[in-house]
Amino acid sequence: MARYAKPSSVEEALHLLKQDSWRILAGGTDFYPSLGSRPLHENILDINGLAELRGTSETGTHFVIGARTSWTEVIRHPLPPAFDAFKLAAREVGSIQIQNAGTVAGNLCNASPAADGVPPLLVLDAEVELRSAEGARLVPLGKFILGNRRTVRRPDEIVTAMHVPKRSASGRSAFFKLGARRYLVISIAMAAARVDLNGDGKIKQAAIAVGACSAAAQRLSGLERMLEGLPASSLADAVGRYEFAELSPIDDVRGTAEYRREAAGEIVRRVLAMAAEEGASREIAA
Ligand SMILES: Cc1cc2nc3c(=O)[nH]c(=O)nc-3n(C[C@H](O)[C@H](O)[C@H](O)COP(=O)(O)OP(=O)(O)OC[C@H]3O[C@@H](n4cnc5c(N)ncnc54)[C@H](O)[C@@H]3O)c2cc1C
Repeated sequence: MARYAKPSSVEEALHLLKQDSWRILAGGTDFYPSLGSRPLHENILDINGLAELRGTSETGTHFVIGARTSWTEVIRHPLPPAFDAFKLAAREVGSIQIQNAGTVAGNLCNASPAADGVPPLLVLDAEVELRSAEGARLVPLGKFILGNRRTVRRPDEIVTAMHVPKRSASGRSAFFKLGARRYLVISIAMAAARVDLNGDGKIKQAAIAVGACSAAAQRLSGLERMLEGLPASSLADAVGRYEFAELSPIDDVRGTAEYRREAAGEIVRRVLAMAAEEGASREIAA
């Protein structure tokens, strides 16, 4: 018979994960829809009693986002302007009810190509903390997600936090989501950019990621290198010359591959302009 457990400490959760096979339940906003009309036969490990996995904190070198931090908490917690893309994405996840229940780690572990949380965390060089009874490991987010619904998480591991190095939390960032309508919509394509300018207005460093245009969201490292040293005013031309070889969009009900590729170019141009020219913070302030 299937078991249900709601541990009150991470240690207890890890002990259970070592003993048996479980499906982890956080906010349930991906978990339940994925069941469809199938009855539940697996053991359920409900992590909603793990208070220690909730909220955002700082060490000397990193920002640490607890696995169970909800999108609403991301929006409300004060963070530097480099996190603006992450906050803008949080505001675009479903509706307010979904943002209250859904968690950051749930979004990453579900590993949908259209997960809005992934590009903003990729441009912050986030690492995923995984814990098992054997110990802990940190995996760069770009290596954590292997493809559509596939991650490197082992069955005995739980994601406990996301770590953002403070050295990557510089500059300003922005996020843009393209959907068939403005709210409560799955992305056709989305992009996040973080731009660090020199005192002379030229690009010191740019980090750019695109989602929903490949099996897992991708950093555009070729474009990032092309932009280094350019004046912020010439970003649009550079994006126009870029071939977006990292992307492999598919045709589906939301859009054709050709449309997605063209849209990716346009939304990358927009997020770069938002991050470089004015920053997204004004929109966040409300
Ligand atoms: C109406 C609706 C609209 C939505 N709109 C959007 C949207 O616009 N953009 C978007 O990106 N997503 C959207 N989603 C998807 C979902 O809300 C998010 O992905 C959310 O962040 C998932 O978090 P959760 O806590 O609910 O995860 P859950 O559903 O509880 O879990 C999701 C998966 O992650 C695993 N998991 C969860 N936490 C952990 C952990 N700590 N360690 C290991 N495994 C774990 C679970 O086992 C499960 O496989 C929407 C969902 C709904 C129902």
